[in-house]
Amino acid sequence: MGDEQWFWDLVWPDVDGVVVDGVEVVEDTVRIDVHAGQRAVMCPACGTAASRVHSTYTRRLADRPIGGRRVVLRLTVRRFFCDNAVCKRRTVAEQVEHLTTPYGRRTQAVARMVQAIGLAVGGRAGARLAGYLPVRVSRDVIVREVRRLPDPPSGQVTVLGNDEFAFRKGATYGTVLIDVETRRPIDLPPDRTADAVAAWLADHPEIKVICRDRCSTFSQAAARAAPDAIQVADRWHLLHSLARAVERTAHQHRACLRKDAETGDLDEPTEPSDPAALAALIEPPEPADPPDGQLLARVRQWHTDIHELRERGWTISAIARRLGRDRKTVRHYLTTDLDQILASARERRPNGHINRFKPYLQQRFPAARPTPPPSSARSANAATAAAALSSPSTSRPSAPAPPPPNHRSRSPAPAGSPPGSCGTRRA
Ligand SMILES: [Zn+2]
Repeated sequence: MGDEQWFWDLVWPDVDGVVVDGVEVVEDTVRIDVHAGQRAVMCPACGTAASRVHSTYTRRLADRPIGGRRVVLRLTVRRFFCDNAVCKRRTVAEQVEHLTTPYGRRTQAVARMVQAIGLAVGGRAGARLAGYLPVRVSRDVIVREVRRLPDPPSGQVTVLGNDEFAFRKGATYGTVLIDVETRRPIDLPPDRTADAVAAWLADHPEIKVICRDRCSTFSQAAARAAPDAIQVADRWHLLHSLARAVERTAHQHRACLRKDAETGDLDEPTEPSDPAALAALIEPPEPADPPDGQLLARVRQWHTDIHELRERGWTISAIARRLGRDRKTVRHYLTTDLDQILASARERRPNGHINRFKPYLQQRFPAARPTPPPSSARSANAATAAAALSSPSTSRPSAPAPPPPNHRSRSPAPAGSPPGSCGTRRA
C-alpha cells in the first residue's frame, strides 16, 4: 500500500492514522476497507489516555464520491477501557480526527457537503441534487445536518425588524426578530406577546430603530422596553395596507367602474387644481356615521355566490378556494339565514357604532380598574377593543380593529385579508 499512499493522501488530505486494507468496486459503489491504527485515545469525560482494548467493530461511513461513484468506507475501529477509577465512563470509542464523529454515518467532509447543499437549496431540492453528485441523503438528513450548524454570531444590532410567524399555521405563532441591516433572523421568541418582545428588547439596549407592522403588540413592547428607539412601519405592511385600501375603494365604486367600462368613458380624469379639493382627496373628512349599504351589499353578494356554487354541486372546500374565504365562513353562509348574517354584519360594522362613543371609552379605559372577566371571549373582545382604541392605526374608519384569533373565521373581512390579526407575512 505504500506506493498508493500518495493517492489516499489526495483523497483524505487532512486525515492521519488510517490504513487502507482493500478497495472493491461493486456497480456504482466503491467500498474501501480501512482501519484506524491509534495506540491510545483520550477519554472525553476525564481526559486520561485509554489504551487497553475492549473490542473491535466495523462502522460504515458515506464518503465523498470518487470518479462519479458513491464511496462507502468500512472503517474498523476499537473501543478502549477508560482505566481512570473515578471516571463515570467505562469505555471510549476510537474516533479519527477530521474523518469521523460519534454515531455519525457519514464522514465530516460529506457532512459539510450536505450542509452546503441544504443551505443553498433546502431539504427537498437538496435531496434531488445530492442524487446527481452522487451522495445518498434524504431531505430529513439534510435538514438535520443544517440544524447541527452553530448559529452565526449576530453582533451588534441597531436596526431591528420584528413580525409574527407561524410555527404551525393557524395554530401556534411566535415572533421573528431580524437584523434589518444584514437581513438575517437573529432570534425567535416563542410567542407573539408584548411581554416576550419587551423582555428581548430589555436585554438589547443598543437597538436604535424598530421596524414593525402596525400591530399594537409590538408598539406596546417597544414603548415599554425601548422608549428611545424610533419606531417605523415596514415596507411590506405599508404596501399590504395600501393594497387592501385600494381593493376596498375599488369595491365600493364598482358600480361606477362598471358603468364607465360599459360606456367606454375611460378618459383621463381631470385633476382638481383647487388646494382645498386636493386636500380633501388626500385626507377625506371622516363621515360621522358612514352608510352601511356597501358592506351589506358585499355580504349579500357573498351569500348569493356561495349558494349558487353550492347548487351547482361544489363542495365547501372548493367554494372556499374559489372565493378566497375560510371554510367555516362558507359553512356559516350556507347554514344561516341571510337576515341573521346581515344583522350580525351590521353589529360588527367596523367603527360605525363605536366612533360616537370613542371619546367616552378613551376617557374610561385608563381609569378602569381590572375586574375578573365573566368569560374568556369577553376578555378577548375587551383586549381587542382596548388595542383598537390605543393603536394609531385605528384612528381612521377604514382600518377596522382585528377580531380576536378565535373568532377570526367569522369576520366578514375582504377577500385576501391576512390570516394573522396583524397581517402575517407570507414567504
Ligand atoms: Zn474517563
